[in-house]
Amino acid sequence: MSEALIEKARTVSMTDIHNIVSDYVHLTARGKDYHGDCPFCKQNCTFTIAPKFGMFYCFGCREGGDPIKFLRLMTNKNSEEIVTELSVKYNLA
Ligand SMILES: [Zn+2]
Repeated sequence: MSEALIEKARTVSMTDIHNIVSDYVHLTARGKDYHGDCPFCKQNCTFTIAPKFGMFYCFGCREGGDPIKFLRLMTNKNSEEIVTELSVKYNLA
C-alpha cells in the first residue's frame, strides 16, 4: 500500500468526517461542531467532531484523532483494511 494512497484516504475521509462518524454516533450540531455520546467511554455528549479540522475528540476519555483512527477503534480493523475500504468508497485507487 502506497503512502500516497494512505494520505489521500486520510485527506478525503477528514473532509467527510461527519458522514463517517454519523454511521456510528448520533450527532447533533452545536455551532460549527457536532456533539454526541462517546462510543468509547459511553459518557453523554462528551464526544465532539470538528469538521473544520477533520478530527474527533472526547472530553471524557480524551480519545481523539482522524477518521482512520476512529474507524480503527470502532471496527477493530487495521489501518490498511480501513484505507482499502475508504479507497473503494471514495474511488481513490
Ligand atoms: Zn469518551
